[in-house]
Amino acid sequence: MADHDCICTQDKVKEYLELMAKNVGISDLTDPALAAYISDSDGLRHLRDLFHYPKCGSLPDVDASLVDPSSDCIYLCGHSLGLMPKATERIMNEQLQKWARMGVYGHLSGDLPWAYCDEAAIEGVARLVGATKSEVSVCNGLTVNIHVLLTAFYKPTEQRHKILLESRAFPSDHYAIESQIRLKGRNPEESMIVMVPRDGEECLRTEDILQKIQEEGDQIAVVFLPGVQYYTGQLFNIHTITMEAHKKGCLVGWDLAHAYGNVPLQLHYWDVDFACWCSYKYGCTGAGGIAGLFIHDRFKDDKRDRMLGWWSHKMSSRFQMTNGKLKRDKF
Ligand SMILES: *Cc1c(COP(=O)(O)O)cnc(C)c1O
Repeated sequence: MADHDCICTQDKVKEYLELMAKNVGISDLTDPALAAYISDSDGLRHLRDLFHYPKCGSLPDVDASLVDPSSDCIYLCGHSLGLMPKATERIMNEQLQKWARMGVYGHLSGDLPWAYCDEAAIEGVARLVGATKSEVSVCNGLTVNIHVLLTAFYKPTEQRHKILLESRAFPSDHYAIESQIRLKGRNPEESMIVMVPRDGEECLRTEDILQKIQEEGDQIAVVFLPGVQYYTGQLFNIHTITMEAHKKGCLVGWDLAHAYGNVPLQLHYWDVDFACWCSYKYGCTGAGGIAGLFIHDRFKDDKRDRMLGWWSHKMSSRFQMTNGKLKRDKF
């Protein structure tokens, strides 16, 4: 097993805490003094003030005799819905006022013309996932993006028709893959390879994933795995798995729902084919926040079928409304 291989994030966190406790002479990891020390010495501590922390008293099911209702809650739910940044209210209000004042003119006028509003976000999004600006898009919801990407990238043939996923895949991912296989006229029982952790283990070992790719790679069309597993927190070795799957001719896609805004990503450098994520977890965009996707620049001139719309062809001719033969173009 390579040194950098993270079998269980839990062990890594424990190791880190033990080292820190040792450095400050604390023996019990549950000692509140250790928590206070970690909070005080955190270099990102100032960022806490940029978010609204719900007060204990405003949460349902809180026993007011046990906690001070006016105190901030301890929030460990960023994996489900990130906290609200304090700036969100002001930024949203500016746009609501603009809508009230200008109506349809807001599409192309004002500080942030809505027609191009994704361009204001794209640079930051690209940086978060380690991509160039032309490789990322802010659009749809995550489940929809899984479908959109698999529609373009999953092209099963007699020889190569399988999708490799994990047994604990988030239900959306599992069902999307299952239905994509059916949509392409194939049988999920034959075309899904669902990897299960070893007996008694929670996480999938990288070596086992690589071995499976070695054994069945010739029949695998797409490897689709999570960057960070939503249930165990396992950080997958995206680079190694992507490289090894490419050697066998597979396409590799990653669901980054729990990785986006949480762990460093280098999608372009890792040569990932495609990826998608939602933004309302660690991205803190709020319920219904727009999702994102990544397609490696290498596919820029690729002629494979894709799902077109008036927002997915040339910006320069978008408003001509001629429905002419489409010249495919990234915008
Ligand atoms: C949160 C999550 C989803 C949710 O998908 P939505 O379309 O945003 O509801 C899908 N897949 C994974 C792996 C997730 O963690």
